Amino acid sequence: MTHNAQPTASHFIDGAPAEDTAGAPIDVIYPATGDIIARVHGATPAILERAVASARAAQVDWAARSGAERGRILRRAADLIRARNHDLSVLETLDTGKPYQETSVADAASGADALEYFGGMAATLTGQHIPLGEDWAYTRREPLGLCAGIGAWNYPTQIACWKAAPALACGNAMIFKPSETTPLSALKVAEILTEAGLPAGLFNVVQGMGDVGAALVADPRIDKVSLTGSVPTGRKVYAAAAEGMKHVTMELGGKSPLVIFDDADLESAVSGAILGNFYSSGQVCSNGTRVFVQDGIRPAFLSRLAERVSQAVIGDPMDPDTSFGPLVSARQLEIVESYIARGQSEGARLICGGSRLSRPGYWLAPTVFADVTDDMTIAREEIFGPVMAVLGFSEESEVLARANATAFGLSAGVFTRDLTRAHRMAAGFQAGTCFINSYNDAPVEVPFGGMKLSGVGRENAAAAIEHYSQLKSVFVRMGALEAPY
Ligand code: NDP
Repeated sequence: MTHNAQPTASHFIDGAPAEDTAGAPIDVIYPATGDIIARVHGATPAILERAVASARAAQVDWAARSGAERGRILRRAADLIRARNHDLSVLETLDTGKPYQETSVADAASGADALEYFGGMAATLTGQHIPLGEDWAYTRREPLGLCAGIGAWNYPTQIACWKAAPALACGNAMIFKPSETTPLSALKVAEILTEAGLPAGLFNVVQGMGDVGAALVADPRIDKVSLTGSVPTGRKVYAAAAEGMKHVTMELGGKSPLVIFDDADLESAVSGAILGNFYSSGQVCSNGTRVFVQDGIRPAFLSRLAERVSQAVIGDPMDPDTSFGPLVSARQLEIVESYIARGQSEGARLICGGSRLSRPGYWLAPTVFADVTDDMTIAREEIFGPVMAVLGFSEESEVLARANATAFGLSAGVFTRDLTRAHRMAAGFQAGTCFINSYNDAPVEVPFGGMKLSGVGRENAAAAIEHYSQLKSVFVRMGALEAPY
């Protein structure tokens, strides 16, 4: 079956689709088949100029509106997204290859949650009254201005909404550049926001490769940059933003530990390892890809894991029964395969998977390595694919030190029935999000972001407001002002 997902135009600017075919063509490929399903063009300087000019003009009026009015529009957009969840999920599956079983519950739905949450919060954003004896001061919480959002390809709808919702709630405008690999869903988010009543220019989408993102970051009219991407890109974007002293949010990569103690519930621990390694075919930044399993439970864990992984339903991603899809692109497939080869050459023991599946598209079997040691490449570098590394350990103090012995610090998980140990581990992990007897939950009510090289700032929850607004202090003198002369 062939699919056609051609959008009306490549970009969305000033409340309407916009095209400039002079921009470099970008083929959109359905990863499950390798078929081209759409073509868009990268933004030209003229498109970028329109995007920046319309966003800056629109932001002034938007910031002057009441929070309640802004929030109402965002909540209406959340309702529209929920009502169209099926169509949006099909599009997300075409864009990313992720199974409909996932996209129908995790992508548009999560985007709607963010719009609803920050829509509800918009009316509550206030400053503070500070009494100073007879005099007083107050703070105003003001928007930053024009924000650039730059997205990765694994959660295109979610990333667009997680950035747009707090930005718009605070009175900013946003220009969003999706990953060139997955350009389609953000255009739908823009259409829906417009239909919900968002004034033209406040959420513009421009397509393109890294150079388009870099042009946005360098533009002096951009006040803030929020990137979801890899650490190397984060370094470049952070450095470029520093030139203009711009605010940043950096949601970057990870190599997170998942620690399973002997006393853990075996089935839950295996579930955690599966969710934390094979959901979205392993293309999740917060994945627990270093699975430390204590000596006593390891044999049982490995045999149950292999059994359950063999039950993954691999097939047409549009079939609601399919639970494991392809990788996003031929390039990502090659990268992941090269890590599997490194794992084998460095002496890790292959438990299952390890090779491509003989289907068109970019398919790789879910792969588990045992006997992995801390120094192996597959235990140190982010793979971003369905490759789990199982390592052994005997003592709690030993495993905590090894879990933290990484430059990354995005997430960490622990499975144990010992309550005090669970909280001791959570306190000791150097990671922005920790899970106790669970893995990879990301509700909008909870701050999400990284420590160490995994990022700067937080998305979601009230914490995100700090990264899309700034405080102005206003001092008020009530009496006469004296001066020495
Ligand atoms: P990349 O870092 O390659 O790209 C991220 C985005 O930045 C893309 O839109 C890319 O454009 C753009 N970009 C590339 N170079 C520049 C530049 N110099 N200036 C501005 N923008 C640029 O990441 P991937 O898309 O490959 O995504 C995978 C990575 O994202 C993984 O490391 C993963 O861990 C991380 N990630 C982090 C998450 C988090 O919340 N912490 C969530 C999801 C993913 P283009 O693609 O068109 O080149």
